[in-house]
Amino acid sequence: FVHQLADARVPLDALLVSPFNLQGDPGLPLPAALYGPARPNSASVDLACLADREPLYATARDTAVPTVPEADAAAVDAAMQRLHAGFARWDATPVAGRGAALRRAAEALEARRAEFCGLLVREARKVMADAVAEVREAVDFLRYYAAEAEQRFAPLALPGPTGESNELRLRGRGVFVCISPWNFPLAIFTGQVAAALVAGNSVAAKPAEQTPAVAQRMVALLHGCGVPEDALQLLHGPGETVGAALVRDARCAGVAFTGSTEVAKAIQRSLADKDGPIVPLIAETGGINAMLVDSTALPEQVVDAVIQSAFRSAGQRCSALRLLCLHVHIADAVLRMLAGAMQELVVGDPLQRSTDVGPVIDAQAHAALARHVARLDAQARLVARTPLPAGLAGDHLAPVAYEVRDIAEVREEVFGPVLHVVRWGSGELATPEAVIDRVNALGYGLTLGVQTRIEGRALQVAQRARVGNVYVNRNMIGAVVGVQPFGGEGLSGTGPKAGGPHYLLRFASEQTLTINT
Ligand code: GLU
Repeated sequence: FVHQLADARVPLDALLVSPFNLQGDPGLPLPAALYGPARPNSASVDLACLADREPLYATARDTAVPTVPEADAAAVDAAMQRLHAGFARWDATPVAGRGAALRRAAEALEARRAEFCGLLVREARKVMADAVAEVREAVDFLRYYAAEAEQRFAPLALPGPTGESNELRLRGRGVFVCISPWNFPLAIFTGQVAAALVAGNSVAAKPAEQTPAVAQRMVALLHGCGVPEDALQLLHGPGETVGAALVRDARCAGVAFTGSTEVAKAIQRSLADKDGPIVPLIAETGGINAMLVDSTALPEQVVDAVIQSAFRSAGQRCSALRLLCLHVHIADAVLRMLAGAMQELVVGDPLQRSTDVGPVIDAQAHAALARHVARLDAQARLVARTPLPAGLAGDHLAPVAYEVRDIAEVREEVFGPVLHVVRWGSGELATPEAVIDRVNALGYGLTLGVQTRIEGRALQVAQRARVGNVYVNRNMIGAVVGVQPFGGEGLSGTGPKAGGPHYLLRFASEQTLTINT
């Protein structure tokens, strides 16, 4: 059906189609024609992966995760020295040349998609649908930032007084430190590095300790595609030592960080405390993301959106739904249906095609989540828990939903498949405005879902909510590069939108050149 619509040239925006079904396996991909010419989205990754489904799993089964050496203080110093020296040359490379390296990397990554999917499944414990989506997102970032830079980094002539020429030029800031998380070890890693590089910076990249091998392979790929080693160095190790040393280094001219709010603040303090220039921080952190459901919403649509937003990727997305706010008139119907849907989710080994929800990232994360769930068991009302198959080994956590009495009870981000539910429509939470004000008061500001059929309500809610991304009558994860710029405010980050038209400017410095002619 979707392919027929594509043949009939129905635009993508007219359809609500997900490129993946809920079975944890690449489903029907969207035909490339639906994406339209302006969109960088690499639907070809989906199409190719669909065609290669069996080999994809076979590759993942055969993939071994290599170990990598950690950087010590001397290695950090040597890398920063090299990048500091290499910056001027890379920055002087015409933007078309920097963009061309990114485009070559996109081609190479697409060609090596099976290998990268395999590594994502094995090292980051992703289900295959998430691995495919992540490779596509990384490819999209490379192409999108290449195109953006080529368009925006051309010198801008500004007419001024007669006898003078004025030009605004964008260029790199120096050595950019990019610190990325384990939950998108390819897409976020590549997005940060590609943005910083194409803007003319040299880059010291520090991936999460849990997922160094994906980063290692991506950096080798970038070097092989024409990014000089003097412009890109990879440093492995803990944030507390290697990350901290990179940020503290006098040669660090900017930091892009995705991870926890606490670490973002520690980085900000460290940057403020060091001698020398004022160094900018681009931070994308967590969220206590809510979905507001009013009494006019479609329960089926709500439940589908909740299952995807709260439990897909084992809830390990900063965009994931944590707090479901149901109007009292619809709450029981939605919760009954949600409980039914949660029974159908399959928790298991990512190497099995039937798996919807894989394990969480490591034993430590599992233990912290289990402690939170134990607290909820004692204090909240259980709505539903997905059954775990008997004898399942590993760090699996059953998707679970609890009803809590008050929004204020959800104070911290719980990074796993745990959903909190509150009812609104009476008392202190009589109106949608009151709900949004309470959600705003939590201090985070990343994603918000709205489910309503009241015309105008979604816009009013979006206006009132202090969040970066609002999703209406759909799920609230999986922002698409180039069309859904992603990033939050408040405790959720400093605001820049990854995959958006203003992102690269944050990595650049501007120079006005005035010449008396
Ligand atoms: N960009 C991802 C999404 O829209 C989330 C990124 C993250 O979890 O850090 O779901």
